[in-house]
Amino acid sequence: MNKKLNIKFVELTIEKWNALGICETFWIIKSKTGCKTGYFPTFDDLCDKDADHFLKYKNCYYLKGEPCYNEGCDCMLEEETKDCVIDSISIYNNIKNIIYLRKDLIKEISILKLENEFFRSINSGKYF
Ligand SMILES: [Zn+2]
Repeated sequence: MNKKLNIKFVELTIEKWNALGICETFWIIKSKTGCKTGYFPTFDDLCDKDADHFLKYKNCYYLKGEPCYNEGCDCMLEEETKDCVIDSISIYNNIKNIIYLRKDLIKEISILKLENEFFRSINSGKYF
């Protein structure tokens, strides 16, 4: 029988994932239009053999929940065309550095959101 692991992607920002301290490997799903981040909850506990299997079929697991077991399936094709490229980071210092790099950015985003809400409330006529 073909192997099938029960492993599903959970979407999280790197800050939330770090705060939860749940596992060692953080994942980035890159596409042409953007990126998603999160983790595969059971990945760090897999034995070497299962981890190899998962890494080989990671696009299938992410897109379809199971390996397709046919050469050149849609999921693998999406990796080739860079529509879905799955990468991981697991070195603690690298992750800490990324969180540090994002600090100012996140601050700016929350300021922009506040400003947006303010202008929306003006445009909706609240002050007229
Ligand atoms: Zn596939």
